[in-house]
Amino acid sequence: MARRTARITPKDNGRSEDWDQLSIPTPSVSVPASATSNGSSALSCPINKCAGRLNGDISRYDSRMGLEELVCALCGHRGFRSREGMILLFRGGYEFKFSYGPSLQTITVVLSSGAVNLWSTHGVNDDQLAKVAAEWVLLRGYTTKRLHLAIDAEEFADFYLYFCRQ
Ligand SMILES: [Zn+2]
Repeated sequence: MARRTARITPKDNGRSEDWDQLSIPTPSVSVPASATSNGSSALSCPINKCAGRLNGDISRYDSRMGLEELVCALCGHRGFRSREGMILLFRGGYEFKFSYGPSLQTITVVLSSGAVNLWSTHGVNDDQLAKVAAEWVLLRGYTTKRLHLAIDAEEFADFYLYFCRQ
């Protein structure tokens, strides 16, 4: 399928001349502050088959990265949550690049048409899906990553199961 909006070819090091031409939109898709600052909101642990809940700890907030560290009470998994929410830097076709907080790190989510179709049956559009997937990447403990939600990718099933548990 042809990309609709941009011919952007991000390099793996996250730097590209294209960046100079991109305007950074206001974070219209960021999570409301109330959803990110409440340490007791108890997200599910993103590690497969773990029934634990993630607990935030204000003392574990990294102001340079803008990330709060969350720890699973059951398995000890450590993940992250952006206090300012995910900020969409650009979208090119089904590829989304997000930033978070003051950090220069980015998370890239590439959706497949299969993923878009599947989540649309849950009433989730592609913009929302990309954002939730980027949040999930942080919860898994990655601060920078390229996630490709192809149907045959292992992470596709992990992410879908996690989504259904919420
Ligand atoms: Zn766990």
